[in-house]
This record gives sequence, C-alpha cells and structure tokens, in this order.
Amino acid sequence: MTVLLGIELTGRRVLVAGGGPVAARRVQALRVAGADVLVVAPQLCEELAELVEDRVVRWRCGDVQEHDLDGAWLVQTATGDRTVDATVAGWAEARRTWCVTAGDVSVGTARTPAVTQTGDVLVGVVSTGAADPTRSTRVRDHLAATLRSGAVDLRRRRSSGRVVLVGGGPGDVDLLTLRGRRALAEADVVVTDRLGPTAVLDELPADVEVVHVGKTSGHHPVPQAEIERILVERAQRGQTVVRLKGGDPFVFGRGGEEVLACRDAGVPVEVVPGVSSAMSVPALAGIPLTHRGVTTSFHVLSGHDGLTPAARQVLHDGATLVVLMGVSMLPEMVAEALADGVDPALPVAIVENGATPRQRVTRARLDEVVARASEVGVQAPAVIVIGAVAAEGLLDG
Ligand code: SAH
Repeated sequence: MTVLLGIELTGRRVLVAGGGPVAARRVQALRVAGADVLVVAPQLCEELAELVEDRVVRWRCGDVQEHDLDGAWLVQTATGDRTVDATVAGWAEARRTWCVTAGDVSVGTARTPAVTQTGDVLVGVVSTGAADPTRSTRVRDHLAATLRSGAVDLRRRRSSGRVVLVGGGPGDVDLLTLRGRRALAEADVVVTDRLGPTAVLDELPADVEVVHVGKTSGHHPVPQAEIERILVERAQRGQTVVRLKGGDPFVFGRGGEEVLACRDAGVPVEVVPGVSSAMSVPALAGIPLTHRGVTTSFHVLSGHDGLTPAARQVLHDGATLVVLMGVSMLPEMVAEALADGVDPALPVAIVENGATPRQRVTRARLDEVVARASEVGVQAPAVIVIGAVAAEGLLDG
C-alpha cells in the first residue's frame, strides 16, 4: 500500500540517474527542496548542463553504476531506458533506499506527488493505482485554487504567535494579493483600518476577532502606540495577528513603526506588500503616472507636508506629482505652486474613493482646480495627480 510521507531532503544526497529533460525537471524540484543532488549520465540536456556549470548540482559523467547509490537517501531514475531504470531500482531495493522510476512507477518504491504549497501547507497528490499524472495534476490544480481563494480556514491550532502586516490595496477585495488573502485565512485576530478592502472581513469565519483602529466619522482613531500594544500583546498570547492596512503598509502606513514595535518585543513579524493607492488609484482612473513622450518619473507626497521644495522641483521639471492625504491642504499647495511660477495650465486630476463604486474623477487646470474641487465637494480619501499625465483624453485613441 502507498502512503504519503513528508520527508526532509535538505542537505541529503539524492541520486538522479539520467540526463534528459525528465531528469532535469526532477532535479529542479529536488534542488528547490535543498537536496544534495548527484546526476549520473553519459551526457546532459542543456538545462542540466547549466545547473552543473553553475555548480548547483554535481555530475558524474558515465553510465550509472551501483556505487553511485553510496550515501543516497533517495534515488530517481530517468535514463529513458526501462531496463537500466529497472536495474537501478533493483540496486536501490537491495539497499533499502527509496526509488522513484520515471516512466514506470510500479518498478520503483516511491512516487512523486503533484504538489501545491500555500504558506507552510504542502499538499501532495498521488494515484495509489496506476500512475496517472494528468489526473493528479488536475486534482492538485483544483486544490491549489481552493487554497488560494482564501475560502479555507488556515488558522493554526498550535501557534507561537506572530504579526503579519498586510497591504490590502486601495479598496476592492480583488486588488488584495493572494498572499494577503492567505494571511487573512490564517488570522485569529485582524486589526484593521477604515481604508482598504474591508469587505473581505465579512468573508472571515465568525469567530475571527476584528479590531477596528482606523478613523471613522465621529470617532477618534486609536493612537499608534495603542495599535502597536494590541499587536504585540495578541501575538504574545500566541495568536496570529493580521494588521490589515489600505494600500501598501510601507507607503504612509506607519508599517515601519509597527515592524519595529514587534521586533523590540521579540514578536515575529512579516510584511505582505500591497497595491498602493498612490499608483493604483490613478491607474483605475485611466491616468498613467509615466507615459512615453510625456513624463518618465513621479514623486509621491503626503499633503500634510505641504508643497515641499522637492515637490516644487518636480512640477518645474515636468514630472508627475502624486499627493496622498492632500484634500484639505490643496488650496495652500496650489497657491504656493502658482506663486512659485508653475504653469497655471498644468492639468490636475483628483480621484476620490478609488476602487470603490463611489470612485469619482475631477479634472481642472492648476489655477482652476481649487474652485472646481469645492464646487463638486471633493472629499477624502482622494489621490491628487498633478502633471501632464493628468490631462483629459491622454489615452484616448
Ligand atoms: N498605505 C496607503 C496610504 C495611506 S495614507 C497606500 O499605500 O495606499 C491614506 C491616503 O491614501 C488617503 O488620504 C488617500 O490620499 C489615499 N487613499 C487610500 N485609499 C484610497 C482610495 N481608495 N481612493 C483614493 N485615495 C485613497
């Protein structure tokens, strides 16, 4: 009877008999697993030759011999010659070394599963009857899609506690990364902001605790030090804590401070990058931040800082200026830019509530944008793009 067994290959010798493309595929997988791979074959296909040249695997040139099995924990045959494969399998059997034979698994003593890995969950599929790799792959693909969808509860039952800072993207759940979604499926508690893909919270199991720390109208946000205290304290209790943030955790997200707080407390912390609103919200509104023949660089600014000298230079240079958290400071920034001699006709686009059904784009010239914004009642959250790329119709055919 066949059983599935997870074996540790790091640093362990594996003999691969054969030098063709089938052997190459196996060598690649064994190499990723950290095995000490010895290839024995009279000649090598290009892919294997490169691995040997890069000293990633060792090669003994020649026909496989019994002594090649010395020290091997596992043998893989793929010589392309069934008789040779069977001979090698016989040597392995006599030495009680597991052996996978390509082509005819019934000759060997082990089978290679079709695998998929999601975080630290490794799933392998083998057929216990006649080998049927196409079917195993199909089953594997189905399981992989299910695991990646985030629909499987991946919370640990035995956990030592950790924090994962997840960049949630600008708002639509579709713009959350697969890695971020998986982290949420592993979470015991989610500490969340107001911006970002908050609808994903409804998909979590009912007993996942959700702590809201972002600003909401009428409520003060939880102070940063208190957020950091919650993260550390929950992780120290052994919980997997996801800190869900809008956009990317390291773009005006105070993610760096949270990483330091965890490190200082000796709590393991991981960062899952997110799709920053700085780039994605303009993209969703059809505004490229760089465009061939128009501009080749962009600068991202926090509106809280006002028009910094660097930002002023960006406008004079014809590069793109992207302002986050800039709605309330817009009149001052525009006045400063105009006083500084920036072209009054420079296009400006304001994109509110990007990646949500309430997304709205307002466009105007620099010298008219303040009046236009107050006329239509522009409100945060919004991304402001200043520069030639913000012109209406730039991408129209
Ligand atoms: N870490 C975030 C930014 C946090 S600062 C990121 O990488 O996106 C918060 C600011 O981001 C808001 O004031 C607004 O300027 C911008 N923002 C975030 N989400 C937004 C959205 N869906 N639409 C428009 N602006 C958004």
